[in-house]
Amino acid sequence: MKLIKVEAEGFKSFADKISLSFDGGVAGIVGPNGSGKSNINDAIKWVLGEQSSKALRGDTMEDVIFSGSKTEKPMNKCSVTLTFDNSDGEVSIPHKIFTISRVLERGKGNNTYYINDQIARFKDIRDIAFESGISKSSLAIISQGTVSDIAQATPEQRRGIIEDAAGTSKYKSKKIEAQRKLEKTTETLDKVNTVVEELEKQLKPLEKQSEKAQIYIAKSKELKEVEVGLLVHDLLHYKERVEILKNEIDGFQETKEDLEQKIQINEQKLGDNLDYKKQLDDEVIELTKDLDLVNEKLHSLEIQFKNEEMKREMIISGQISSASQDRISAIKKELESLSSQISFSEKWKEETSQDLANKRREIEKIEMQIAELRMRENSSKTKLMKARSKLDVLNDYKESKSNLFKGTKTVLDNGSLFKGKMHGTVADLIQIPEKYIAAMDSILQNAVQHIVVDDSEIAVKIIEFLKANDGGRATFIPLSSISVKDIKTEYLVKIKTQPGFIGIASDLVTSDKKFETLVNFLLGNVIVVEDIKVANEISHLVDKKYLVVSLDGDLIRPGGIMTGGTKQTSNILGVDNQIEQIKNIIPQLEEIVMLANQDITKLESLKGEKQSFIDQITIEFVKNNEKLISIKEKFSSLKVEYESNSNEKFDEKNVQSLDTELNETRSKKSILSATIKSKKDKLEKLINDINQIQSSKKEFEKSLRLIIESFSDKATEKTKADFYINDATKRLSEHYQMTFDSAREQYKLEIPLEEARHIVSTLKTEISELGNVNLDAIEMYQEIKERHDGIYKDKVELEEAKRIINEAIAEMDKIIITRINETMDLVNEEFNNVFREMFGGGEARIFLLDPNDPLESGIDIKAQPPGKSIQNLKLFSGGEKALIAISLLFAIIKAKPLPLCILDEVEAALDEANVVRFAEFLQKLKKDTQFIVITHRHGTMSRVDHLFGATMQKRGVTSFFSVELAKAKELVDSFVE
Ligand code: ATP
Repeated sequence: MKLIKVEAEGFKSFADKISLSFDGGVAGIVGPNGSGKSNINDAIKWVLGEQSSKALRGDTMEDVIFSGSKTEKPMNKCSVTLTFDNSDGEVSIPHKIFTISRVLERGKGNNTYYINDQIARFKDIRDIAFESGISKSSLAIISQGTVSDIAQATPEQRRGIIEDAAGTSKYKSKKIEAQRKLEKTTETLDKVNTVVEELEKQLKPLEKQSEKAQIYIAKSKELKEVEVGLLVHDLLHYKERVEILKNEIDGFQETKEDLEQKIQINEQKLGDNLDYKKQLDDEVIELTKDLDLVNEKLHSLEIQFKNEEMKREMIISGQISSASQDRISAIKKELESLSSQISFSEKWKEETSQDLANKRREIEKIEMQIAELRMRENSSKTKLMKARSKLDVLNDYKESKSNLFKGTKTVLDNGSLFKGKMHGTVADLIQIPEKYIAAMDSILQNAVQHIVVDDSEIAVKIIEFLKANDGGRATFIPLSSISVKDIKTEYLVKIKTQPGFIGIASDLVTSDKKFETLVNFLLGNVIVVEDIKVANEISHLVDKKYLVVSLDGDLIRPGGIMTGGTKQTSNILGVDNQIEQIKNIIPQLEEIVMLANQDITKLESLKGEKQSFIDQITIEFVKNNEKLISIKEKFSSLKVEYESNSNEKFDEKNVQSLDTELNETRSKKSILSATIKSKKDKLEKLINDINQIQSSKKEFEKSLRLIIESFSDKATEKTKADFYINDATKRLSEHYQMTFDSAREQYKLEIPLEEARHIVSTLKTEISELGNVNLDAIEMYQEIKERHDGIYKDKVELEEAKRIINEAIAEMDKIIITRINETMDLVNEEFNNVFREMFGGGEARIFLLDPNDPLESGIDIKAQPPGKSIQNLKLFSGGEKALIAISLLFAIIKAKPLPLCILDEVEAALDEANVVRFAEFLQKLKKDTQFIVITHRHGTMSRVDHLFGATMQKRGVTSFFSVELAKAKELVDSFVE
């Protein structure tokens, strides 16, 4: 490779563009001091990538830009271009001729490099410099005054020169790079090893946990397959059973209530009857006492009467002989007695008939009262029956939620899943008085079924649950998202006094305190009024801004749209109200039945007593009649006898009642007896009744006991079944996130029941024996395992990389050692020859200071000019040092030819004879090396192939011209000598 042209503009003193062309061989540059010769040297160094401004003899890099002179303005940009002939292909650029350029602009600080006018990287330029051997650290450019440095250099610096010659710099820098890489790789490997160790520590327990979690998942999956099927089977069974039990229990309940009522009625009756019996007993005692007195009196009266009567009868019958006058008088007396008996008897008969008729009427009245009471009792019983069955229907309705949308029902049925955060439907949470139900139903419409939840997150969870189970749709009101609505005060003041205004809907209902916002959100801006007419007026008053609703449920919406007419309520609102009402009515009806029954019993007793009295008196009545007939017969026959014997008429009208007291006493006795008899009869019946009641009460109590026993068995069974249903549904929803319906659709028990139960219980035990399971461990293990495997792979790769780098370093060391040794040998071969030529004898060589460390060892020079034995190079004269250095330089160039060598006044210190030797050496070496020699010396000038003269014609600006040797001498002489 050959440098064939140097062009520069704006560089240092080259304000005008300069262009120097070379044609190999030895080119000399001559000129006066300060004319800019060395600037050529600097220009070449600069293009080749020199970064040190000091090496370019400046303070900053911008010092290389032409700074102006007295006549010239400073320039803002400098550029230098080198053109090479690469015909020998030394540089791997696919061009025979190529250029490299460097441009710098003032103030911009950035250098731009070009290869063949194409922007290139600094590295590309450096590569060319290395490839071609023209690098700054080589011997290619030896500046003024530095030549003796070669001799004076430290062994390490000298080693650098030999390394350049040996071309090991490339390997050395590659080795340094490889060592840096090795260091980094080792560092990374250490870090990786730490991470691998750390990960391995984590992996062990995680692997165990992950295995456990996998077992848990597998067993849980297996359990789900069997358990869900089993739960579905059992739920179906228990639901069916509960239905049957419910019907039975309902029947029992009715019978139980009926028996309890009967027992209660019997107890009541028993109490009443016992009271009544006591009363009767007391009355009978009193009456018997009266009767005894009456009997006593009657007894004495009758003795007296009988005596008189007997006496008269004996006179009349002639048993006692008497005068006929006495006999007639006895007959008269007897007639008077009989007449008074007849009139008393007839009076008694009349009075008693009256009495009997009264009593019968009384009985009729009682019977009417009883009939009336029976009617009342029956109608209350019917009402009671209806109320009870309506209550059953309403309770069923409420329990089955059959009036709700599918989604709403699913959410409520699985409420335990969202416990504490899901509060139920709007209808469940707001209590509405009966009279506002129609209005509220109209306002709320489907919102009654909206589900109230704490926040939107829980609503999202429930919606996901509904979707997963095909559970239908539901609408949610998250409490955290709603705010209170109201009616502006100005409107409120206006409408409050309007006739027919009832209130703001939110004020007419009640709710738990925590749902106040909900109530105000739904009803706070709704006005409730009497009827649609008022609604119309009020809607106008509030400028149609609010919803107005009548008690019937007719609506005027904001904006004025009206809805009205007849409507059916949704049956969701008001169920609780109805249940409540019926529950209140039932005991009232029960009381009516009970009281009616009590009254009937009492009245029937009274009726019986009266009837018994009538019966007794009727007997007396008959007796009285019979007696009357016989008395009348006796009276008639005696009357005939009297009138025939006395010849006078017996005047009944004038008869004075003689036996009034006796008759009255008799009458009293018969009434008392009848009364006592009737009461005794009643008592007897009462005792019978009491016995009857007691025995039927016992019967009822026995039946009740039996029923309760049987009821309690069924109730226990139902409670157990309900508990199981609740538990199983909860298990389905909480553990498997399934509704019963979706589970039934997806799972069927396909193995025998007992086997399924055994599997479920075994799996549950096995799962619980697993203890705490960390399900995240699977993912964590996987993640860490992947990380570990990835990093482990890195570790293996890094170890491999480390091995390769070490191998490469070893390989490079081998190359460096070989090249250094080869170069040393070659250089030593030439060095001794050149030295001998230069010094006219003697000997010189270079050697490794530490032959055992050919890689690092410094290199020293041993030079022995003829007749001298100087050990220390420093002790040589300046010229000698320069000569040793030039000898070594030439020896190196000879051993390892350079493509280009710029020598800037290296021979300045030599005497003329040595200058000639120096110049002749250049001619010997020029075959393999192109020389550019900056010189002041004639000996050199006269032995170069081509000369350039440098002048500063304009002050401060260099210009070059090609000169003949004679002119060159002239030129140099004129300025230098
Ligand atoms: P000598 O024979 O004394 O070594 P020389 O011919 O090698 O001299 P150089 O060192 O190449 O001369 O050039 C130095 C000249 O370049 C000086 O006159 C200096 O003023 C000029 N010079 C250096 N840098 C700049 C610059 N940035 N702008 C203008 N002139 C510059």
